Amino acid sequence: MVIPYGRQSIDEDDIQAIVEALRSDWLTTGPQIELFETALKEKFGANHCCAVSNGTAALHLIGLALGWKPNDIIITSPLTFLASANCIVYTGGTPDFVDINALTYTIDPALLEEKIKAYRKDGKHVKAVVAVDYAGHPCDWVALRSIADRYEIQLVNDNCHALGASYYGDVKYASKYADVVAQSFHPVKHITTGEGGAVLTNNPEINEKVKLLRTHGLTKNSELIENNHGPWYYEMIELGYNYRITDFQCSLGISQLKKLDDFIAKRRNIASHYDKAFGLDNRFITPTVSDNVEHAYHLYPLQVKFDEVGINKINLFRKMKEKGILLQVHYIPIHLQPYYSKKYGFNKGDFPIAEQFYKREISLPMYSSLSEDNITMVTGSLKELITS
Ligand SMILES: *Cc1c(COP(=O)(O)O)cnc(C)c1O
Repeated sequence: MVIPYGRQSIDEDDIQAIVEALRSDWLTTGPQIELFETALKEKFGANHCCAVSNGTAALHLIGLALGWKPNDIIITSPLTFLASANCIVYTGGTPDFVDINALTYTIDPALLEEKIKAYRKDGKHVKAVVAVDYAGHPCDWVALRSIADRYEIQLVNDNCHALGASYYGDVKYASKYADVVAQSFHPVKHITTGEGGAVLTNNPEINEKVKLLRTHGLTKNSELIENNHGPWYYEMIELGYNYRITDFQCSLGISQLKKLDDFIAKRRNIASHYDKAFGLDNRFITPTVSDNVEHAYHLYPLQVKFDEVGINKINLFRKMKEKGILLQVHYIPIHLQPYYSKKYGFNKGDFPIAEQFYKREISLPMYSSLSEDNITMVTGSLKELITS
C-alpha cells in the first residue's frame, strides 16, 4: 500500500449523488450547477458564485473579469502553484512577486507595500494582487485589504488551499476581504468534483462577467444584445471560453461540501499528531498558526534543517518511497521556473525567504482518510531516517 501526500475521500453517498445526476435529463448546463453554486455561497458567505471546470479556469476568468491587460503589473507569491501566476500571463499582464512571511508562509504585507511604493516612484501602478492562503493558513487579510484600499489595487484570494479555514473566527472570510475568490475542487483539495473550481464574489459585475465568459461570451440577455431575430437568438459580446462544469460533478460537489467540516476536523487531528512528533525537535520547523487563524491544512509543510541532519532531501525522498510513503514539495518558487526567469528576468536570490523555505520543505501525507496507523508510520519512518 502506498501513502500519497494527498488524495480524495469518496463514500457511498457521493457515488449515489453522481449516479442520480447521470440518470437525470441533464449531464451539463442543468439544475445541479446552480444548486452547487448556492451551496457554496451559503458555506462561504459570498453573494455570487460561478462554478467552473477547474481552479485555473476560475483564476483565468477572474483576470479577464477584472480587466487585466497587457503590461498591467500584477503581484503574487512565489510560493504557490503555477496557476496563481499563469493567470496573470494569460491576460498579457506582467507578473511580479513579493516574498513570504517566514512564519505564515503567505505574502508579506510590509514587503508588498514596499514594492508598490517602488513602482510608484517609477510612475507605475500595481493593478492587482493575487494572495494565496498557502497550505490552508489565511493571509494577513486585514493588512492586505488596507493596502488594496490605500493604493487602489484589486485584491484576489487564491483560496484553493483554504476551504474551511477561519480568520478571526469566520469561515466566510475570503470574499469579505478580497474582491474576488478562486477555489479548486481537484482531488487533492479539501472537497473534490474530479476537476472543478469556483469564483466567489460580492461584486455583481464581476460575477456577470465571469458567467458570460464561462460560456463563450454569449448571451440572450435582452439588456445586453443589440438585435433579436427570435427565440433562438443569442449574441456573442465578448471572447469567452468553454469553462463549464458538468451536472454530475456539481452533484458530487454538493455531497462533498456536506462533509467539509468533518474533513477539516480530520486534517486538524493529523496536523496535531505531526506537531507533537516534530514540534519540540529543533531539527524541524512545524507550521506556525497565527492567533487569529484556524488552519485548514490542505498541506502539512514540514521544514527539515537538512544542513544539520544526516540525510539530504533526495535520499529522504528515496528512502521514504521505499517505505511506501510519497512525500512532495510545495513549491519550487515560481520565479525560478525557466519560463518565468527567462521571460521576466528573475534570478536566484530575488525572494530569499521562499527559496530557503523550498530547500527545507517537505509535504507530509495529509488527507482525511489517513489512518492513525499511517500517521504513526509516517512520523516513525521520518524519525528513523533523520538520525543525527
Ligand atoms: C490547485 C490550485 C490551483 C488550480 O486548481 P486546478 O483546479 O488544479 O486548476 C490554483 N492555485 C492553487 C494555489 C492551487 O493549489
